[in-house]
Amino acid sequence: MFRICPKSMHFARPNVRRPGFCVHGHVAMAIRHYKVLAIETSCDDTCVAVLDRRENGAAPQILTHLKETLDSQRDGGIIPTRAHLHHQRTIGPLVNRALQETKSRDDIELICVTRGPGMPGSLSGGLDFAKGLAVAWNKPLVGVHHMLGHLLIPRMQSNGAAPSFPFVSLLVSGGHTLVVLSRSLGQHEILCDTIDIAVGDSLDKCAREIGIRGNMIAKNMESFINENLDEATSGASPMNLPSPLRNQNGRMNVQKFSFAPFLTAVRQHLERDLHSYSERERRSMAFQIQESLFDHLITKLRLVITMQPDIFSQVKHLVCSGGVGANKRLQEKLQTEFSDFFDSFYYPELELCTDNAVMIGWAGIEINENLGLTTELGVSPVKKWPLTELLTVEGWICR
Ligand code: AMP
Ligand code: ZN
Repeated sequence: MFRICPKSMHFARPNVRRPGFCVHGHVAMAIRHYKVLAIETSCDDTCVAVLDRRENGAAPQILTHLKETLDSQRDGGIIPTRAHLHHQRTIGPLVNRALQETKSRDDIELICVTRGPGMPGSLSGGLDFAKGLAVAWNKPLVGVHHMLGHLLIPRMQSNGAAPSFPFVSLLVSGGHTLVVLSRSLGQHEILCDTIDIAVGDSLDKCAREIGIRGNMIAKNMESFINENLDEATSGASPMNLPSPLRNQNGRMNVQKFSFAPFLTAVRQHLERDLHSYSERERRSMAFQIQESLFDHLITKLRLVITMQPDIFSQVKHLVCSGGVGANKRLQEKLQTEFSDFFDSFYYPELELCTDNAVMIGWAGIEINENLGLTTELGVSPVKKWPLTELLTVEGWICR
């Protein structure tokens, strides 16, 4: 297996003509066994992972995978300065614990860290720490695009074999609702985005309105529904939930998602005090809410597919990731609705779907091994970093 220079991305691995060098004279090196330290601090989670990059073509092994989330319940939302402080306080002890647990203090060969997009204060908490380690250990640094982590993580289990490019991802989380076409490691195009809030945010807020509590509220709503499916599907307390972004003729030709109208509709529906609704009625409402948000996802994804037949005739793999992607009902619906369009469906496990450092480590490995890139020590966080500018942003070093 050889590393390939980014300028020769069009050469598939076996076609690198001169083993040992790419066509531009960049050194292509055989892959050997090494360990990777990965750090993610783009928002309110301080995440650290150590991966063991095994040499026999096997997927990397996750040696440890730690996360400490800022408690923002009192603040009613994430306050950037508090998130910055959280990362400053947490990153040192967490990295220390990860290195101790995995006995890796002396054999980390690659440091991967989220460089953007995200809150600059949060990002710098991890990035500055990673730069310090890169200097102290004299090891290469890879500054990873957070969304690239989400996009590439389903490939880790197969060591980069599947899903093969091109593939399409439905990224559904608390912060994103995106359809992304990934043509190659460095080429990603957003085909559909939300005009207001993300699907996870909307699910959480709607669920809170009907009295569901907890950390991942939408996850708890799924459990609440599944506890008694007869009640959930009973039709008690029928709701009038919207189908957003229809035009006046009722046609759905706007290639955008919109999830704020669901929250408005749920609030309008609840005319009485919440305590006056029976459990049967609340379970039925939960089912209707979940169903209508997922139907909106399906409708818009279908629109994106049918409006771009040239692209989708070549795309055979669908990835659904992000926290909401763990929902079994959504997975079932995608499989049923799109079995004619895709040959295979990928649902990374929840731990790797939500923000985590493993995905940053894996993306860093792919960037480093396959594109031959590392990151300069002088880089700063990139607050807004379009996926289309993945490789053109300043700070990359080509081997
Ligand atoms: P993320 O933003 O990727 O960290 O994911 C968090 C979001 O995913 C939150 O909105 C959660 O409520 C949501 N989530 C997690 N598990 C589930 C599930 N099983 N069903 C629906 N939403 C979920
Ligand atoms: Zn994320």
